Amino acid sequence: MRIAVIGAGAAGIMAALHAAPVAQEGGSVSLFEHNQTVGRKLLVTGSGRCNLSNDLLDPSLYYCSDPDWIELFLDRFGVAELKEVFEKLGIPTIKTDDGWYYPLSQSAHAVVEILHERLLEADVKLRVATEVEWFSWKEGQFELKLNWNERKTVERFDRLVLAAGGKAYPELGSKGSLFPALRQIGHTVEPISPALGPIFVDLGAFSALKGLRFDAVTSIYLDGERLSSTFGNLIVTEKGFNGPGVMNLSHFVGLFPGRDLQLQVNFLAPFWEGMAEELADLEKARGSLRALLLRALAPKAVDFFLSQAEIAPETQIKAVEGEQLLRMLRVATDNRFKIKGAGDFKNSQVTIGGAPVSEVDPITFESKLIPGLYLVGGTNNIAGPCGGYNLHYAFGSGVLAGKHLVSSNINH
Ligand SMILES: Cc1cc2nc3c(=O)[nH]c(=O)nc-3n(C[C@H](O)[C@H](O)[C@H](O)COP(=O)(O)OP(=O)(O)OC[C@H]3O[C@@H](n4cnc5c(N)ncnc54)[C@H](O)[C@@H]3O)c2cc1C
Repeated sequence: MRIAVIGAGAAGIMAALHAAPVAQEGGSVSLFEHNQTVGRKLLVTGSGRCNLSNDLLDPSLYYCSDPDWIELFLDRFGVAELKEVFEKLGIPTIKTDDGWYYPLSQSAHAVVEILHERLLEADVKLRVATEVEWFSWKEGQFELKLNWNERKTVERFDRLVLAAGGKAYPELGSKGSLFPALRQIGHTVEPISPALGPIFVDLGAFSALKGLRFDAVTSIYLDGERLSSTFGNLIVTEKGFNGPGVMNLSHFVGLFPGRDLQLQVNFLAPFWEGMAEELADLEKARGSLRALLLRALAPKAVDFFLSQAEIAPETQIKAVEGEQLLRMLRVATDNRFKIKGAGDFKNSQVTIGGAPVSEVDPITFESKLIPGLYLVGGTNNIAGPCGGYNLHYAFGSGVLAGKHLVSSNINH
């Protein structure tokens, strides 16, 4: 059995490694990658630390048209399975207090180097610097049009794993260039849009907070109705907000173009309970309001919120008027920013859209339309939030596809 895997990212590398036993049975596994090296995008994940899974994996957290589908996948490939796969490859993992998984080395470079070595040991034919320009399906075989240093060739394979990713961060390799070929052989390709990116808003006076980071609860509203909320760290930028605290909401901007979208930011969220206690009985409260806010916020932020509420910095909590306090709380916890846009593919981490899950088996990752075609990772219309959910899916779908290729070879 001749197997072609297109794309040496998280999904393609795992698919090739787990399909590799067919090489011992007289078959072959070729891994095509148009970058000069494997795992180019993996290197930048988790700010170079490779956040590869999460203890809180749950179908409801994924953007997916069919929650049952992703549940079937997660039942088959959860955190325990991922840890076992990495352990066997010689990449032990560790977990942070909040349940995010990383390699023990905390180095994406180390992960890519080990995976590269394992690919060589497994006799996977590494065809780097090779662009797959097109693929088609003829008489039960897959025909790939290849371009290696402007030398164009055509090769045929019995099985094809499409692991070419979506279109996010195109400079790292995935440009969505093979979606037209997928459509041509009969698959649906749902419209693609970027996800996990910055959100651009009209900051108004809040641009005074530029450069500051907050742990905040953010909520997105469509025509005044709340669509979703998330909690995380965000940074105030020139054009709005960036960081996990808003990235989980950015895909909504692409899903509702031209609609009235607003972002509510609660800058006091993690501090709110303690603060509410202090403020519950103003008579008994000690010290200045400024000192209370400084427990959780940087001086620049405190000065901004006090000045917006027209409260003098030295005002003692006891002396704060109820109306002033409400004004300050509205600014700090309930301001609604008009959303002007979100990051494009260049600065968003994942893609929504692509092959619909209804056309792919969630256990084998074989296409339900074209026998012998496997669709994995960012090619599928699935996206998770920040925290290792996307790499978990990419790695897991690759592993399951690779294993199924081996078992279907035995039954061949
Ligand atoms: C900056 C950044 C940080 C991220 N951090 C995290 C994180 O910490 N945790 C997490 O879970 N997720 C993270 N992600 C998301 C995660 O990287 C992706 O979900 C995951 O890499 C998808 O894997 P993939 O194998 O499907 O696609 P990709 O990693 O995009 O791999 C596809 C490969 O296919 C190759 N290719 C494409 N077309 C062709 C072609 N025609 N011919 C030959 N080769 C081709 C590409 O060059 C690429 O190497 C991050 C993404 C970015 C951009």
